[in-house]
Amino acid sequence: MFPEPQIWQESSHCQMKEELCRLQKEQHSRQSPIDIRFSSAVSVVLPPLRFQNLLSSDVRVIMMNTGTTVDFKIAEEGVVRPSLTGGPLLSHGEFQFYNIHMHWGMRDVLGSEHKVNGRSYAIEGHCVHFNTKYGSYKEASKYHDGLAVVAFFGEAGKVDNPKIERLVKRLGNVKHPNSSVSMSARESLSWFADLGEPTNYFTYPGSLTTFPYSENVIWIVYPRPLLISFRQVKAFRKLLSSDCIANTENTRPLQKFNCRPLIYAIGT
Ligand SMILES: [Zn+2]
Repeated sequence: MFPEPQIWQESSHCQMKEELCRLQKEQHSRQSPIDIRFSSAVSVVLPPLRFQNLLSSDVRVIMMNTGTTVDFKIAEEGVVRPSLTGGPLLSHGEFQFYNIHMHWGMRDVLGSEHKVNGRSYAIEGHCVHFNTKYGSYKEASKYHDGLAVVAFFGEAGKVDNPKIERLVKRLGNVKHPNSSVSMSARESLSWFADLGEPTNYFTYPGSLTTFPYSENVIWIVYPRPLLISFRQVKAFRKLLSSDCIANTENTRPLQKFNCRPLIYAIGT
């Protein structure tokens, strides 16, 4: 025995709506970026986070203006691949370097995507890795533990950061979308060594901050910013976007925290 078609349609419609609501709720429960509140975090002793090979002398990167950001990828296949292990990733295996890219805003006080205790910074960098057990970035993106992104901030001031200057002086070479330049990782990313502490970072489960906003990222966020000058931040805003106008802003607004686990990693 089947219900009348009209009733069947209605109940089916309701079920569908409920299912859709459930899925939407699930899919949007761990979005990024967030405001990282110290008061919401739990301090946990984690094994040291280990960055390997990013600054090896034989690693070259290609810096590219993608039209939405500037990113750095490994130039040659087959060379030693930088990787990330340990910390909150320990039980997930090894993560391979995919790219570093930047976010910035129109103003020096509103350029980062994440905030820390309500405070924003001039610039935020994302060092993206994928879980090697899935074989590729594309495949890893389908899984909840597929990606690990290390986020770091740049706080603007009057004094130039000489290490970041090596990168900034090349931005003029990639002013136009899809233009790129090759350089040594050790030269262009040397500032990264100032960040890569094995502890003293926040970690939480989140999402990509750009389309498709998939919820597959283990975030590692360093609250202690690098110092960068007003002039150096300005150089990023001079890059042209895909529609050939100045790319003055490429950040996503804050998302709801939704009572997720937020861990502050400390050493033994
Ligand atoms: Zn990003």
